[in-house]
Amino acid sequence: MIKQELFAEAVEEVSRYFSFLSDMGCRGLDCSAGALEIIKDWGHVKEVHAETMGSIYDESKNCRRCKLSESRKHVVFGEGDPKNARLMFIGEGPGPEGNETGRPFTGEAGELLTKIIQAINLTREIVYICNAVKCMPSGERKFLPEEISACHVFLKRQIQVVKPDFICTLGSVSTAALLKTSRPIALLRGRFHDYRGIQVMPTYHPAFLVDNPEKKREVWEDMKQLMAAYRK
Ligand code: SF4
Repeated sequence: MIKQELFAEAVEEVSRYFSFLSDMGCRGLDCSAGALEIIKDWGHVKEVHAETMGSIYDESKNCRRCKLSESRKHVVFGEGDPKNARLMFIGEGPGPEGNETGRPFTGEAGELLTKIIQAINLTREIVYICNAVKCMPSGERKFLPEEISACHVFLKRQIQVVKPDFICTLGSVSTAALLKTSRPIALLRGRFHDYRGIQVMPTYHPAFLVDNPEKKREVWEDMKQLMAAYRK
């Protein structure tokens, strides 16, 4: 990639990052050590293309980019087929079961995701499943914008390795992280969006469906669209 393209990509990333922070309510410039560490990676596109999922995972295991490193038991990185998956499911972050096992989407929400994947005639083994944030916070709290932002470097590199045709974002955190928007998931689901040439279908998170089973019908509508595009 020539220098101008690298520069343009870095500028675009900076612009998207500031837009995202603005949408999330941030009104100041974050010059913390964590933010500078993230910015340091921008533009290193050649190295990113050469890496494997294993090397990214190894790096994440020792990650101290945000305070979630202090509360996690396991980094919940991702699983599935990183080489051949045409579809990625991206959730929000690990819950207690994931923190114990190191696997994404275990427990009740995980069982529901497995059923959703099977309903579109795929399996967990042939897609790729991960979260926007890899470590669990202590207590039942939401992820902070700076945690989502700090972890985005891993998500972005996972997507670059898998190179999927489709991404299904599950819930508002991963949808906002990818599409750089704070619009509610209810207004974003039901149609495809673009992320760097990849078709993105946002839908409700399986954990939300556990508490709101009446929303399953809308998720099924989203899955039907995804399945039709996938089979084309
Ligand atoms: S959540 Fe992500 S950025 Fe934060 S410590 Fe874990 S791997 Fe690192």
